[in-house]
Amino acid sequence: MFGLPPPGIGEILDTLVAVRWRRLDAMIDKKSDINKKPDPDTEPDWTGSCEVCGQSPILPATGMCGPCTFGEADTVGGNW
Ligand SMILES: [Zn+2]
Repeated sequence: MFGLPPPGIGEILDTLVAVRWRRLDAMIDKKSDINKKPDPDTEPDWTGSCEVCGQSPILPATGMCGPCTFGEADTVGGNW
């Protein structure tokens, strides 16, 4: 009996490890987002207008504005 972990401890440890990995994944995702920023393809282009709605700025890679490219209203005004 002594020295043996109580039943269920393995499950708890597995959960803790899984949570930790998920946090690590989230951190890596954030880093890759930061790395994308200086990419000229994702820099807001104020000289062009969106192919769909005619707004500026556009994402040079798609020729469309933020909301049309990402489907997120928060990206309006080059805020991506
Ligand atoms: Zn648009």
